[in-house]
Amino acid sequence: MEEQAIRKIVSQVVGEYVLKTENAPTQIKHCPGQNGCMPAKLPKVDGAPAWAGLTLTPQQAAQMDAPAWANVKMQGEVQPKSQAEQESSIESPSQPGKIPVEVSARHVHLTQKDVDALFGIGHQLTPKRELSQPGQFLCEERVTLITGKGEIKNVAVLGPVRKSTQVELSFTDARGLGLAVPVRQSGDTEGGGDVYIFSDKDMVRAPGSVIVAKNHIHMTCKDAQAFGVKDNQSVRVKMNTSRPVTFEDVIVRVSDQFSLAMHIDFDEANACAFQTGNTGSLLL
Ligand SMILES: [Zn+2]
Repeated sequence: MEEQAIRKIVSQVVGEYVLKTENAPTQIKHCPGQNGCMPAKLPKVDGAPAWAGLTLTPQQAAQMDAPAWANVKMQGEVQPKSQAEQESSIESPSQPGKIPVEVSARHVHLTQKDVDALFGIGHQLTPKRELSQPGQFLCEERVTLITGKGEIKNVAVLGPVRKSTQVELSFTDARGLGLAVPVRQSGDTEGGGDVYIFSDKDMVRAPGSVIVAKNHIHMTCKDAQAFGVKDNQSVRVKMNTSRPVTFEDVIVRVSDQFSLAMHIDFDEANACAFQTGNTGSLLL
């Protein structure tokens, strides 16, 4: 579909948003200088924090054009330090008693029906890179998320397809889209936010699909025995970082299909000044 046609649909669907933002200055949603900031041309959102409307110089904007997280490994990956670091191994440090921590950038899981609608009937998601959890992969396909309040471009799609479409954002992302969304475990989208998902060909409506993923630890049965925990148990995890934070009510998920990793989102990573290779210590 031509860009103009898409814009027409967008303006029908979400009002004047696109037209209004076309001449908007380049803005970023986070304060600058933090690893993992997500630059985007976003309108200022009512109720947004003071730093939300920062305007970049053209030079800064050019530098930030490629989202810092774009090459970050998903769900088993972070941290946008340098390209070289990203390409290098993200092997989990095997320190006894320490849990490797990975940061999940914003992403979308799609149903086959939505894949058909966005990329063409019968389209198969194209794996780009395997993720740390066996069977999961980052796709070549990317999408744009749009609400009446904002948009986020170049959002990662994770495969394989699922039974329901699910959009996982940080609270910062959600705020930029004007969405109030719940913290939920993956697979539970009750009370989730509404969003439109665009490819460069078409769009789908994804009502109730947006959540902030609850932080959690994947582990095998053997890991669970070693840590003395059970599936679905709530634990505390102290982050071994330069700005230590202890996360409460972290859910343990046990399956021999998993590999040991704690997953947090970008807001949580930034809150504790997370760096690649930092670990968490499980506190019961
Ligand atoms: Zn996970």
